Amino acid sequence: MAEQRVPPTPNNFQVWFKYCLGASSELKRTIDILIGNKRKFDTATNHDLFTTYAGSQVVPEDAALNNASQQLHSVMSSAKQFLTTAIADNRTQMQAISDVADRTEAGLDPRPLVESLMSELAKAAARAAKLEASFGEKTRELDTIRDSLNKSEERAKTDTLTGLPNRWALEEFFRRAQMAAMENGEALSILLIDIDHFKRFNDNFGHGVGDQVLRLVAKALRERVRDVDLPARYGGEELIAVLPGADLAVSTTVAERIRRSISECQITRRSTGEILPGITVSIGIAQFQFGETMADLIDRCDRALYLAKKTGRNRVVSENELNQELAS
Ligand code: GH3
Ligand code: MG
Ligand code: MG
Repeated sequence: MAEQRVPPTPNNFQVWFKYCLGASSELKRTIDILIGNKRKFDTATNHDLFTTYAGSQVVPEDAALNNASQQLHSVMSSAKQFLTTAIADNRTQMQAISDVADRTEAGLDPRPLVESLMSELAKAAARAAKLEASFGEKTRELDTIRDSLNKSEERAKTDTLTGLPNRWALEEFFRRAQMAAMENGEALSILLIDIDHFKRFNDNFGHGVGDQVLRLVAKALRERVRDVDLPARYGGEELIAVLPGADLAVSTTVAERIRRSISECQITRRSTGEILPGITVSIGIAQFQFGETMADLIDRCDRALYLAKKTGRNRVVSENELNQELAS
């Protein structure tokens, strides 16, 4: 923190404690990128880091974090004990060596002292080995806790129905993508995907079938975006995808691919063998404009999506068409 000139406030401590603990790979990556890019940890950045990674919603399972904190405390006190003992032993040995030297200089027989020094050294080595073992054990326990923290953070970011990243994960991903887009001058686009007449699936076949449709659409989306993209559940029967590096032309191609693949899916009702009516989606596309908020970008995307619905559904509409419609 001192190296990066981060003021030692309680909030900043929380962030950097988590960073040192390695409990969040996202936080670690973000801070490493910021350091790599020689970015200043100014008040706004520190605040962002705190609200994103250390604020109340970040800690998915208090119990896990408490446990980790206790564990870390225990490792620290083991380390402290280890060092204190090692330092005290070292002092005793130095004194003993100097006594031997004095005695030899004075022409006295140093052997009794050498023997006692040897026995002192042997005892010190045994103490150090014991402490080292307990220190190692505590460190391993801490590794386990760190894994469980990572897992619980992963769970907190996942939508249980579709298995897609949830809204929180989306916001976090978007913040980073937005920062990168502004730094590198690269394009960044989003797709909003809404299932057409989804209510009918629920009404005609029950909520369970509705859920099945939603999962299928989520799977189709996940399979058709790149690893660097983020598909997520935006809410209800609306999904979203954030595509770093993609402009409107690229994202239109991606969206078309998604739309077509979903329209080719078929669901058979397990209980009756009945084939359900075709599933289609409407997709809105918008491209990030330098400095705008996610809410503003989503708002434009939502209007494009609305236009897709209005002009017949099972369509992809980009914000360009929105502008054309306004002009006409
Ligand atoms: P449109 O083509 O205009 O999008 O029509 P729609 O029927 O898809 O839209 P509408 O907003 O009228 O209905 C969305 C429905 O999605 C209503 C809500 O009950 C249902 N829904 C939201 N979340 C879930 C879910 O997790 N599971 C199920 N089965 N249904 C859900
Ligand atoms: Mg909807
Ligand atoms: Mg819908």
